[in-house]
Amino acid sequence: MTRTFPAAVDVAIVGSGPSGATYARILSEMAPQASVACFEVGPLLADPPGLHVKNIKDAGERAAAQRRSEGPQAERAAAAGTRMVRPGTFLLPDGYRQPGEDGLPGAAMSSNVGGMGAHWTGACPRPGGRERVGFLPNLDALLDEAERLLHVVDDAFDDAPYSQEVRRRLSTALDNGRDPGRRVQAMPLAVVREGDGRVTWSGADVVFGERSRTNSNFTLFPEALTERILVEDGYARGVLVKDLRNGAEHEIRAGKVVVAADALRTPQLLWASGVRPAALGRYLNDQPQTVFAVRLREVTTLPDESAQSAPGQTISKHSGVSWVPYTDEEPFHGQVMQLDTSPVPLADDGVPAPGSIVGLGWFCAKDLQECDRVEFDAYEQDAYGMPAMRIHYRLTERDHSSIEESRKAIRRAAEALGEPLDEEPRTFDPGASLHYQGTTRMGLHDDGASVCGPNSEVWAVKDLFVAGNGVIPTPIACNPTLLSVALAIAGARSIADQLNADRN
Ligand code: FAD
Repeated sequence: MTRTFPAAVDVAIVGSGPSGATYARILSEMAPQASVACFEVGPLLADPPGLHVKNIKDAGERAAAQRRSEGPQAERAAAAGTRMVRPGTFLLPDGYRQPGEDGLPGAAMSSNVGGMGAHWTGACPRPGGRERVGFLPNLDALLDEAERLLHVVDDAFDDAPYSQEVRRRLSTALDNGRDPGRRVQAMPLAVVREGDGRVTWSGADVVFGERSRTNSNFTLFPEALTERILVEDGYARGVLVKDLRNGAEHEIRAGKVVVAADALRTPQLLWASGVRPAALGRYLNDQPQTVFAVRLREVTTLPDESAQSAPGQTISKHSGVSWVPYTDEEPFHGQVMQLDTSPVPLADDGVPAPGSIVGLGWFCAKDLQECDRVEFDAYEQDAYGMPAMRIHYRLTERDHSSIEESRKAIRRAAEALGEPLDEEPRTFDPGASLHYQGTTRMGLHDDGASVCGPNSEVWAVKDLFVAGNGVIPTPIACNPTLLSVALAIAGARSIADQLNADRN
């Protein structure tokens, strides 16, 4: 089947994950007259576009959708080895570690409509203390808006067995000295409670929303690789897109170009386009992650049978998720998850009371270094024909001591809850958090340490915007997507304002 690519649009968006979807949504709301096209290298998995795969009820279809997100198939199988890889993602096949460095063995990506947002866990905590972007005076208002777009709620699992008890025990052990807003609480989650009581995960489909889907000026092109941004006289003037269905290349003129292609592939596309500011790919950071699991002590009563999930139901009612917020004094982000949302394998010794086995994940903020970076090879290409990646990444002394402290902190939390299932917490290899930041970082001034300004426009190239976790300039320990979406909202609004001003 052939399809028609436009010759020109007002705005070209590269990538259809939550960040790219944010631009589509805000432009659909604020400048519906503007023509907007989104180019996504991965396939369309489901309807509506960007649907979270866990909302697909049929297990076979769900597994197929995950496999279709895993990029070039052969690479994934060959690359994994002993490295951990999550369904729906694929690892960097090589170049993830240089001799003598720690590297990012867990560095992963997803290629599909909806990006990693079709596979994520939906935890949307607000950044606190030094995690916040201090030079954005309206950050809280942007975070409010990001919560609206992602549909974030903090009462999704209030009725989950033991979740109140989990929080009570953690509070007693950990809340002393914390500000009220940074005490143990329910994890804010991007989920939707359907009319029939089911809870489903927000994917990019929720961010796109009806406003994008019904906007006749917005078009999404799956299986469309953006190979290059067209730059003329210091201005972005369009994109070169390869239709992966037939190999044809299309030059599409655009008034503005937004690159929301994840924290590794956004700098890749800029580099491939000759946009190479000093900070591009640098300050790469990932959140060192430690996990542990416990059996809640003294919880013998089996909860109501109605709490069991029905076959095919996506999130069971006993999926409580609690949050131990980051503070500058206790600089770890704690995620405490019951059963099917847990990131760690749980007990297999018979059937535990639903909700009584708890997985804990503690994330550290990285000690930022300019030399931690993704570089690109001028000669070698990846499976898409884009410049191959080379990761340079080291944990510093401060990182090692912060990881040690987080191991103590997770043990304290675990012991407050019950009996640990293992002797020691397990610290994952770098990259396993799936939260990579800093590679196209935002700054207040063009001082060589940032790639874009506060509205996400690239300093070096006018009308070129970057989006996603790479834009985050601060060392954060909390899950990044809410903050990335907040930063994308500011960028999208500034484009909409410019388009509307040009029209008047
Ligand atoms: P992505 O979602 O990665 O989307 C980028 C898109 O760009 C991809 O679809 C990709 O195919 C496309 N693309 C790349 N290059 C090109 C190109 N050249 N041309 C065209 N398209 C291109 N985050 C949280 O905050 N909370 C969580 O609880 C959480 N849990 C997670 C659990 C899992 C299992 C996974 C996999 C991720 C999790 N994350 C979580 C991370 C979260 O999914 C990401 O932060 C989020 O998806 C980033 O959104 P994005 O739009 O910036 O990038």
